[in-house]
Amino acid sequence: MLKITPYLGILVLIVSIFGFIFPILGYLVPLVFLILLLIAPFRGRWFCGNLCPRGSFVDFWLDKITRNLSIPNILRSYWIRIPVFITLMGFMGYRLILTDGLIHQVGMIFVIMCAFTTAVAIIFGISIAPRTWCTFCPMGTVQRVIGSEQFQLKIDKDKCIECKKCKKICPMQIDVNSPNLRKDCIKCERCINKCPTVALEF
Ligand code: SF4
Ligand code: SF4
Ligand code: SF4
Repeated sequence: MLKITPYLGILVLIVSIFGFIFPILGYLVPLVFLILLLIAPFRGRWFCGNLCPRGSFVDFWLDKITRNLSIPNILRSYWIRIPVFITLMGFMGYRLILTDGLIHQVGMIFVIMCAFTTAVAIIFGISIAPRTWCTFCPMGTVQRVIGSEQFQLKIDKDKCIECKKCKKICPMQIDVNSPNLRKDCIKCERCINKCPTVALEF
């Protein structure tokens, strides 16, 4: 992760709280969408592990209060991800169509989306594990679809001693030996830094 990553979470609180007074803050949401869409074709879900304010928020604000349980695999499946994507994007699109195009009205819709999804992320983050929301977040799914083959984590099986330290440290609870799970790797590099035999690299 980047040096700035742990500090980005504050942006989520600023938008989700002060956005109701200053709706213009909501425009940070489409800006985030745009940045991740530009990065995903080259780096997959790198944005999630390095630049996403909500990813930073759940990682560094919830880590002391989470139950830290295993994230149920069903939440990673497209059976959950696609309906969540359609519901949230459909709702946002519908609300945007109903506005008169006024800047503050549009901004407020983004603020409401940010506050709602942050509340959901907090509930899942505390009751299961910090990054639970990130297993089915629509923007995470988009990045997976666009760039899952890019910038992949490689494992040197000759060096691996199966100590599982990488899985324990991974915020997405990814088993590095599972190609399907690795598509949701957020490129935070925590496993690389933890691996005692230097078996992992990008
Ligand atoms: S999955 Fe969504 S909330 Fe989580 S880090 Fe990625 S874009 Fe941010
Ligand atoms: S931390 Fe390294 S050695 Fe241990 S299981 Fe993971 S890849 Fe293998
Ligand atoms: S597999 Fe490694 S780089 Fe990928 S999300 Fe997990 S800890 Fe981060």
